[in-house]
This record gives sequence, structure tokens and C-alpha cells, in this order.
Amino acid sequence: MSRRIVIVGGGPAGVGAALGARAQDASAEIILIDDENVEPYEKPPLSKAVLTGKAMPQDAPIAGPKGVAGANVTRKAARVAEIDRAGRAVVTNGGERIPYDALVLATGSRNRILPMFPEATPGIYYLRTAEEAMALRAHLKLAKSLLLIGGGVVGLEIAASAAELGLKVTVIEIAPRILARVCDEETAAIIHQAHRDHGVAIRTDTVCAGLQRLPDGRLAIVTKANETLAADLVVVGAGAVPDEALAKAAGLAVQDGILVDDRGRTSDPAIFAAGDCTRFAGPHGPVRLENWRHAQEHGAAVGRNAAGGDAAYNPVPSYWSEQYDLYIQGMGWPIAAPSTRVRRKISDTATVMFELDGTTIAYAVGINAQRDIATIRRLIERRIAVDAAELADPAKQLNAMLKPKS
Ligand SMILES: Cc1cc2nc3c(=O)[nH]c(=O)nc-3n(C[C@H](O)[C@H](O)[C@H](O)COP(=O)(O)OP(=O)(O)OC[C@H]3O[C@@H](n4cnc5c(N)ncnc54)[C@H](O)[C@@H]3O)c2cc1C
Repeated sequence: MSRRIVIVGGGPAGVGAALGARAQDASAEIILIDDENVEPYEKPPLSKAVLTGKAMPQDAPIAGPKGVAGANVTRKAARVAEIDRAGRAVVTNGGERIPYDALVLATGSRNRILPMFPEATPGIYYLRTAEEAMALRAHLKLAKSLLLIGGGVVGLEIAASAAELGLKVTVIEIAPRILARVCDEETAAIIHQAHRDHGVAIRTDTVCAGLQRLPDGRLAIVTKANETLAADLVVVGAGAVPDEALAKAAGLAVQDGILVDDRGRTSDPAIFAAGDCTRFAGPHGPVRLENWRHAQEHGAAVGRNAAGGDAAYNPVPSYWSEQYDLYIQGMGWPIAAPSTRVRRKISDTATVMFELDGTTIAYAVGINAQRDIATIRRLIERRIAVDAAELADPAKQLNAMLKPKS
């Protein structure tokens, strides 16, 4: 009899798991359950081409034009409400019971909701799903001004898209600078300047103290410094939290993310988990990542393991972001105290900042440096010793550093 693998969640981790399981076991029955009633689509375009009206969410199906059905995966549109671990079955909101031999949880993350900005308030938006992107896109067309709460990666992409549409955009950031979680100060300053050049005002060190509705219908934020900032729309980009509710209710080990081992196994050997919803063993301790490539690769590896494989997952994490004409990429594992920071200035518009841990690269952030970043991935993967002065010199080819020194 063929094995039945049930996957909950239709993001890149869930779809990656379905395709990985299919590659491992051609005869398995694979069921993908997702609560968004559409063919799984990519989220990265939502804050970019979808908001600016250049694309629709369904233009980017994760599994390609044939969808998950092309890999002989059955898709079910339903919300899983419960896991019956003893009976090895999931139960949907509609009461349907679906038994499994192996279960993969790929429930992703949810918007972090700030109590001052309740969801479903007219004029206040969060962005995670296609539905939310289409609602925001419709309102951006009608609005003249936007207040963006949070200077993180996705928030700044929304700011760039709104500026491209001609809105007056103000970003409110509580920290002394933008992108504090993802890059060094110098790189953040380049990105900040690009926003300034496009007319976006970024207010750092600014704390929201209250929200008011003005008589003309606009929203106004009162800051802790007692300033009033008004706009037609408020978009909250306050990050995401792992969607671990189902796992927690089922008694699986969770700790700001579903805890998994390097095979993606949870505290129940029949249940695996992958992607944004997990916390897994990274090189510097348990870690949670929220980026596309990790979700997709983790899903693929874990799907294979759920279908009888036995491969460890050891990623070199990476992310990308597009803002105006900046293509920003991060690669590697940031460390708290890099031994050296060195910048490679490739041209006026292209640069890489390296963070070294002794003689190896721990982390690098590039702007318009796609070719170099691909090589840096290999330098990190192979733990190749590098020379900081050579990294800083754009005349020195990074490719040459891949070859062992004689
Ligand atoms: C607007 C936006 C832009 C982004 N841009 C980039 C980018 O440029 N670069 C980058 O690297 N990353 C980007 N990301 C991050 C990246 O998209 C995520 O890291 C990735 O989608 C995570 O994949 P996942 O499969 O773990 O979870 P998700 O994509 O969140 O998918 C989880 C799915 O599970 C469903 N689900 C949850 N619970 C249940 C349940 N109980 N029953 C049924 N279904 C359920 C959810 O509805 C959802 O469809 C972006 C994210 C967003 C929101």
C-alpha cells in the first residue's frame, strides 16, 4: 500500500515539501491542504509588482504553470483545525478527517498585529496574502498619502511601491535606523538615501503614541514627541510571528516556532515541519528564518525525509529585496561581533559589505551585486579562508578565491 503524506500549508515550504516527497517516493499519496482557496502563489511579488499593478498574484504559481497537480499532488482548500496524533489524522474546520502516515506542518507565519492598529479598521492595512495585497492595491490607487509603520525589508518595499505610484510616503521607525535586523549601518544608509531620493521621508527614533480619525476621514498618528502625522492610509509592517498554533494545541514542542531537528522532525516522529513556522538547529544555536529560499529548500529537504529519506538540512541562508533600482541580497549567518567588516565598492551603484569571522565570511550584504553574491555563497558553503584586503579590492575576482591557494 502506498504511504500517505499530508502537508498543511501552501507556501513555498508546503509546496517544496510536496515536490520533495514526490521526488523521494513516486507512488506516495500526497495531499496538500491550504486555507487560501487558490493555487499556491509566491508572496515576494505582493509587495512589489502586485502593489504597483504590474502583476497579479496568480501570475507566479509556486509549482509552475501546471500547479501542484502537475506533480500528482492533491490540493484541498480547507483550514486544518486539529491534529489527532493518537489517531494519526488531521481534522479540518468542516469536520473532515484526513488520516496520514507522515504529516508536514508548513503553516508559515502571520502578520505581527500592533494593538494600536487593529486589523479590519478602515484605512489600516497589513500585508501577507494575495487578498490583502489586492485590497491594498485598490486603495493605493485612490490615496494620496501613506504612513508606513516599520522600516524593515517588506515595509520598505511597500514604501518604494507606493512612492512609485506617486503617493507621499512617510516611514515611521522606532529604532535609530532602518533595517537594523538585516544589515550594517553603512548599507542601511545607502538604502535610506535611495528612499530620500524618491521623496520618501523616513522618521527614525519615532514612537507612535496614539491614533486618531480626523474629521476629513484621514488617519493621524500622534508621536511620543507630540507631533501629529496624517495620511489617507496606514500600512503596518511590523514583521511576522510563526504560525505555531496547530502544533502547540497538539502538544508538540514549540518555542517561538515549532522545534525541529536537522531532518525537520518535530517532537512526534510522524510529524515534520518546515519553513517560517519552525525553529531549527543553525550553526549558532536554534534559529528561525523568514525568507523564501529557506522556506523552499527546507520544505524540499523535509518533504523527502517525510517520504522515507534521511538527509540533514544545513543551509546557507539568503534573502533578496527590491527597492527602486536597488537589488539587495543578504547571504550567510550574521554574527553578533564580526572580527572584520570590509566593503567592496564595485561601482557607484554596486557594493558588497562583508562581515568576517576570523578568516572566513560569516555574512555579506550586496546591492546590485548578483554575480558576486553567487560566488560568496560558494565561499561561505566551502568555508574558504579569504583576505580582507583582497575582498575590498574590486579588481580582485572573487571567483579566483574559490581556488585553493598553492
Ligand atoms: C509581502 C511579502 C514579501 C516578501 N518578499 C520576500 C522577498 O523579496 N525575499 C524573500 O526572501 N522573502 C520574502 N518574503 C518572505 C517569504 O515569502 C516567506 O518567508 C515564505 O513565504 C515563507 O514560506 P512558508 O511556506 O514557510 O509560509 P507561508 O508562505 O506563510 O505559507 C503558509 C501557508 O499556510 C497556510 N496555513 C496556515 N495555517 C493553516 C491551517 N491551519 N490550515 C491550512 N492552511 C494553513 C497559510 O494560509 C499560508 O497559505 C516575503 C513575504 C511577504 C509576506
